[in-house]
Amino acid sequence: MRLQGKSVFGGIAMGKLAVYEKKERTVKREKREDADAEMQRFYEAKEEAKRQLGVLYEKALKEVGEANAAIFDVHQMMLDDQDYEESIEHIIREQKVNAEYAVAQTGDNFSEIFAAMDDDYMRMRAADVKDISDRVIAVLQGGKDKGFAGGEPVILLAEDLAPSETVQLDKEKVLSFVTKFGSTNSHTAILARTMNIPALIGIDFPKDCEGAFGIVDGFEGALYIDPDEETIALYEKKKQKEEERRALLQELKGKENVTKDGTRVELFANIGSVADVGAALQNDAGGIGLFRSEFLYIGAEDYPSEEQQFQAYRTVAQNMAGKKVVIRTLDIGADKKADYFGLDPEENPALGFRAIRICLQRPQILKTQLRAIFRAACYGNISVMYPMITSLREVERIKEIVEEVKEELLKDGLPFGEVEQGIMIETPAAVFMSAELAKEVDFFSIGTNDLTQYLLACDRQNPNLADVCDPYHPAVLRAIEMTVKNAHAGGAWVGICGELGGDVRMTETFLRMGVDELSVSPPRILEVRDAIRRIDLKG
Ligand code: PEP
Ligand code: MG
Repeated sequence: MRLQGKSVFGGIAMGKLAVYEKKERTVKREKREDADAEMQRFYEAKEEAKRQLGVLYEKALKEVGEANAAIFDVHQMMLDDQDYEESIEHIIREQKVNAEYAVAQTGDNFSEIFAAMDDDYMRMRAADVKDISDRVIAVLQGGKDKGFAGGEPVILLAEDLAPSETVQLDKEKVLSFVTKFGSTNSHTAILARTMNIPALIGIDFPKDCEGAFGIVDGFEGALYIDPDEETIALYEKKKQKEEERRALLQELKGKENVTKDGTRVELFANIGSVADVGAALQNDAGGIGLFRSEFLYIGAEDYPSEEQQFQAYRTVAQNMAGKKVVIRTLDIGADKKADYFGLDPEENPALGFRAIRICLQRPQILKTQLRAIFRAACYGNISVMYPMITSLREVERIKEIVEEVKEELLKDGLPFGEVEQGIMIETPAAVFMSAELAKEVDFFSIGTNDLTQYLLACDRQNPNLADVCDPYHPAVLRAIEMTVKNAHAGGAWVGICGELGGDVRMTETFLRMGVDELSVSPPRILEVRDAIRRIDLKG
């Protein structure tokens, strides 16, 4: 049987299936006259729950890093929330009931309130408030901390898993986890990615599959139950290849991006969605060098609101935990279309109305995006960059808009953070103006995909031009060299975020040019790190 779900994290797992049954706690409503004694029981249970969370925090910190451990910090804070405590006290005193019942009632009520909120972040808190309430109830009932005690390693199937359950899983015993519910952006999903366990969601598994043999294909999002011999043989091969890749990955994780002669370079990840952050972290990205924000627009029915964008940018910034996140403003037009923009058909779309050109003619779109970016900057280390720049005038106009946005945010009383400003260098005009442009911005990011297209006058979408559209053409390399020189002379740092940046045959050339940062797709990070570490610029 093959069941199709959604992948939360790639990888192949093969083994016995085990169904994780949540031990539903039954909480009885009991009359208690001594409200002070019940409150005392609650306070003691709360302290014990906080102690447990502290232990979990330390465990998660070691295993999956600070950003992902933070959820247990949040849980500790939620336990100290005044409204939460007042609600429990109110139920205990007014209804003269046991503490377990008051905690369960409060947990349910708060969870319902959170679940009904518009804000995605707050909606996610619904599961958390249930989780902390369950923990307090478990302590009150004298139960042990929930855990999963397995024998041989298994593929774990569950309806849903709370973050605390995920981190408590003994990873030696769990090959993969597969849930019926959950979202790709939930904390559990993020934890799974960083824990390096293939994971699927949206799999409605049959209850009677306990003990059967299964295969999880985390690349395709599929679960096989009792697969045939042919499928098993195929996946054994796939798994071996994957293991070889992971072995390389493990060896290079945590190592520096430094050449033999001591030259350091930043190695960041290109992402296209919030969900890609997991892959960036898992591959040890030092930051996000290109967040293609247009996915927020292309996948939507209408312009994404400031709030929707704010949440996406904030999530990325928070998950990257202080590492640099470069958000590229909307780069729509040419091949990337969304109907609601109402763009006219064009003779030459690649040379047409796209990216910053649309944003400057329709500044409200840019303003909404900038407001979201600047607000999200309170939650991490965010930079912004603008695509398809051809002139100083455009940069000046953008800067005016940025000032207007900041003034409006101040007027609206909305907090915002510091944001580095950069531009993409992907047109010949930007290359030739790079000396002047460097003085106006903090950084450049060279988009070799478009730069190749525009320098060589060849449509990057046209399959007949694959030979002409040659990113190794000396004209492209000279343009990059000139850009790097001018960037540094003007006091800007410079990176490469086009596909060429992840081409290990070019790494030495770029380092010799003095490129400060390479931003590549997540699976390429460790390969490029490997290349960097083999280079000797003095040799
Ligand atoms: C580029 O042009 O090199 C680039 C990184 O942007 P995109 O591929 O999204 O156009
Ligand atoms: Mg481009």
